[in-house]
Formats: sequence, C-alpha cells, structure tokens
Amino acid sequence: MKKATAMGLFNGIKFSNEGLRVNLEKCSIYGIGVEDHEVQDMANLLRCKKAPIQVLESLDRIRRVFFWGGSEEKARMNWMAWDKTIAPVEYGGLGFGSLRDANIAMLAKWWWRFKTKKSGLWRRVIWAIHHNSRGWKDIPIKVSMARPWKSIASVRNILLAADIDLNTASNAVLADDKWLWKFDGSGSFNVASIKRILGAANRVRPARVFKWNNWVPEKVGIVAWRAEMERLPTKSALFARNIPVQNQMCAMCGNYFETSEHIFVSCHFAQLIWQNVVNWCSIPPIIAFDIKDLLTLHEISSGSSRKKKVL
Ligand SMILES: [Zn+2]
Repeated sequence: MKKATAMGLFNGIKFSNEGLRVNLEKCSIYGIGVEDHEVQDMANLLRCKKAPIQVLESLDRIRRVFFWGGSEEKARMNWMAWDKTIAPVEYGGLGFGSLRDANIAMLAKWWWRFKTKKSGLWRRVIWAIHHNSRGWKDIPIKVSMARPWKSIASVRNILLAADIDLNTASNAVLADDKWLWKFDGSGSFNVASIKRILGAANRVRPARVFKWNNWVPEKVGIVAWRAEMERLPTKSALFARNIPVQNQMCAMCGNYFETSEHIFVSCHFAQLIWQNVVNWCSIPPIIAFDIKDLLTLHEISSGSSRKKKVL
C-alpha cells in the first residue's frame, strides 16, 4: 500500500470515514497500455466488482453476531430475523441496510459514471477494451471478457427488478454534460437513493411504525423495539425457544407467566413503577393493556410536543 501510494497510484483518491472517494478527473489509476489483468486488479481495489454471495454472507454473519453480542466461536441467540433487523426504520427495522444492496448501489455508481462522465480517462480505457462496432444497448461489454466490468454491466438487470432502469434514470440532459438523476430530489446521482429503493423492495409497511426517540439511549430504544414484538429473553420467550428454564413464572410476583407484556404492563410491580412515574410527572393515571398502549401514550396525552416526547 505504501509503495503504491509513493508511486502516485492513489492520486485523486481519498480514504475518508464515509468510505472510498474517487475523483476520476484527478485519478491516474488507469494507466494506458497496461495489461487487462492489471486493469482488473485495480478495479477490484476500487470495489467495482460484484461481491460473491459467500463473501456477503460471511460479512453479514459478522454483523449479526456483533449485534446480538456473540463472538466468533460462540454465536448467541438471534431474537429477530436478520432481514427484519436490517430493514429501514419505516418498515419496522433498525435501518442497518443490506450489504448486497450497498454493493449493487456501488456498481450502479460506476454504470452512471460511464454514462454521464464522458471525458474520464478510465472511460476511454473501458471503451477501448469493450467497444465493438456492432453496437450496444446499455454500456459496451465484451461478453468474453471476465469481471469486473461484466458485473457493472449486469447491474442494470438486477436493478430492473426493483423498478430502477438505469437507461432511463435521467429526466433530462442539461447543458455541459450534466445529467439529472430522477431518483433523488437533488437531481444528482447518489448511492443512498438506490439503497433506499432496494431496501424498501419486497417489504410490507407495518400498520404502526415504531417511534424512535432520540432522547433515550439507543439501547433503551432497542429494548422497547424488541419488547413490542415480544423478542426479549423473558422466561416465556426462552421456554418457547426450547431453552431450559426452571419455570415460566414472573421473577417479581411469581403469579403469572413472565412475558414482555407482563413485565412492562400487567405485573403489579410494573404498575407500582408506573404509578410512581405518574405521581412524579403529575400526569393522569396510565391506563395500558399492552406494550403498544405504553408506547403510544404520548399520542393521546395532552400538552406540548415537548411534553409528549418526554412521555
Ligand atoms: Zn409479575
């Protein structure tokens, strides 16, 4: 890496917190007259290759284990399907996003660059390698040539499934070789807009969206998010998943099954706590039959929006 930097291979490329930034105008990474495999190696380096499914899966496993607090050797119980956990917030998830979607969106960026930035040196290189006079529909591709350009060329078909047609993704061509990207209000292409559309594909919007409150620590929010869906490690939940527990009775009162709902709502210890909260905040008594009632308390209460947020 140091050697490559010294050779000036990374001129125009910035490694920042938001990921790899490439300025193609300044970039000297594609030399002219280099071997094909060298171009490919460079392209791999720039992440413009479709990641193999196994790689995405093992990366996702690492994310999953990390989120649920396990380790490499010993996986912990996953209380929620991963696909649901990474879903966008408005679809009831935590909004982590899928790695596959991120990968596809990055590929689309290269496609878009090829279509819109006609002056780039790298584009001329790709053109020289892949163009043939028999014409091409999307972007030039010699099928006989292996990845990575092939991955980029194939991204259009993948995105068509999510109703994004890269060929018609611009509303209009403005002057000075400027293209309008129609999937974002700003008109300029961005990876996030593709990820947003892909993240929403094949998902059903829940009837009630979990309301995140940025005044409480994130982990408290996650407990509430899990409680609402009965995904906390209560004795009943453990029992239902065939984990041996001595009994399913509430550890506080011992009279009822220990479920998320019992702990937060119906247990008389919980009710004592709510009673104290009521006295402390001098609000009307809390009438809740389930966790949803607790989480929507602010909607039916009177007072300013600030007061509602506190609730
Ligand atoms: Zn109880």
